[in-house]
Amino acid sequence: MSTTTPARDLAPVVASRLAAEPHLFIDGERREARSGRTRPVLDPGTGEPIATTACAGAADVDDAVAAAARAFDPASEWRRMTPLERGRVLTRIGEAIYARADSFAELEVLDAGKVRGAARAIDVEFAARTFLYYGGWPSKIQGTTVPVSHPGIHVRTEREPVGVAGAITAWNFPLLLCAWKMAPALAAGCPVVFKPSEETPLSALWLAELAVEAGLPPGVLNVVPGYGDEAGQALVAHAGVRKLSFTGSTAVGRRIARDASDLLKRVTLELGGKSANIIFGDADLDAAVAGSAGGIFWHSGQTCSAPSRLFVQRDIHDEVVDKLLAEAAALSIGHGLDAGVDFGPLVNERQVERVRGYVDRAATDGAKVHQAGELPTGGGFFYPPTVIAGATDDMECAREEIFGPVVVVLPFDDAEEAARRANASDYGLAAGLWTGSVATEHAMTRALRAGTVYVNGWGLTDPAAPFGGFAQSGYGRDLGPDSLDGYLETKSVWTFHG
Ligand code: NAD
Repeated sequence: MSTTTPARDLAPVVASRLAAEPHLFIDGERREARSGRTRPVLDPGTGEPIATTACAGAADVDDAVAAAARAFDPASEWRRMTPLERGRVLTRIGEAIYARADSFAELEVLDAGKVRGAARAIDVEFAARTFLYYGGWPSKIQGTTVPVSHPGIHVRTEREPVGVAGAITAWNFPLLLCAWKMAPALAAGCPVVFKPSEETPLSALWLAELAVEAGLPPGVLNVVPGYGDEAGQALVAHAGVRKLSFTGSTAVGRRIARDASDLLKRVTLELGGKSANIIFGDADLDAAVAGSAGGIFWHSGQTCSAPSRLFVQRDIHDEVVDKLLAEAAALSIGHGLDAGVDFGPLVNERQVERVRGYVDRAATDGAKVHQAGELPTGGGFFYPPTVIAGATDDMECAREEIFGPVVVVLPFDDAEEAARRANASDYGLAAGLWTGSVATEHAMTRALRAGTVYVNGWGLTDPAAPFGGFAQSGYGRDLGPDSLDGYLETKSVWTFHG
């Protein structure tokens, strides 16, 4: 049962989602966890409980996979849907998100500590667009005719869904990551068992109900909130799951890859990052600083592709640090539902302590820590925007993912050095550069080892553009046609004509 209601006025549908009995969503209906286990959901902006969620265990994951397997039976309603009908259902799910966009944004603010405007413009907008984009795909998934060198024999390929897909996601983009995982899986014809982060289960549970209203047959989409070492591990180990798509930390991703290999599951891993962002002396400096500050301070730095290593050409280094601090000082910090706020909290107290630890150790290591902005009083998991100068590449703060509003500024002299140092990272999720030179742009985009490279901008995604990492940032891609490939088998059909 719901606990404390926040003092702010909420949309009635949001209030009713918060007040709902704790539940999972399996086979088209709300269910309690078999163990009866629950967990409070906290508003990161106040630190107060706002709802209670059910926590799935292995038995619930079994139920969810069984429901998904039934939905994948060749005679099921789902398998008999034509590609156009499947596309229409996906499109209707996208439209259902748009129709409730403001309420979804409000729910994301309360669940994940977002800021209302950004939640509406980014999380909700791009979740809806992802369903619309993949709604166009089912009728375009096709095989080929194969020019084999055997007279009288015809060979064609057919593309088939791999089977039940499992998805496990992080807390930083609850609704958006849900769309990134669900939409391509459903477009390919795979039923889904989705485990949101234990921190942020609310929007996925709502979306699953809306998907059924939009025409998705029961059992095709199941949501099992719960802890990683229980519901998550059960999903990874389940023999009925053929494909796993994971977004989260590199440490957990490695473990999932190991565990899933026993059953030779297909695995896509979207993991952490320590993205390099490079400002050259010939860049439009105001645009570069505004874009770089926006990139690192947006969602309080809790973005996987956050440009947390900022390389700046030496002669503009001090000016960039000053301008970054001015950008940080101009941020209005507070609860994401309050007017004018553009910088919200971290997700929980543990994350605040983790970020604080990194910054304190950077100071002990000899770096210069600058902080700006005024933190609100009266609860919530806030940490100020932070600029670290005077660090070296080998310091912890310049190597490890901090996952908070902390940028390390490092001077460089020339392009070759910038590329070499940018690439000297375990990660390879995103990289970026700011320059007025086409030659520099071409040389650097070729040199940088990252799944996404931004030039004179930072942070946009689009459902048509593949997203993922090199090296310890993972493998496989979300979004675009690449993501669909992960949910499809290729079958070669040989016909002998006698
Ligand atoms: P996390 O790895 O702690 O948890 C992610 C998910 O994995 C959660 O749902 C959790 O319950 C589950 N989990 C934990 N242990 C598990 C286990 N043993 N088996 C199965 N599931 C398990 O990550 P987090 O703290 O929630 O999120 C932050 C991390 O996510 C950062 O490293 C960030 O860079 C990364 N991230 C990456 C992307 C991307 O697209 N590359 C996007 C968002 C976040």
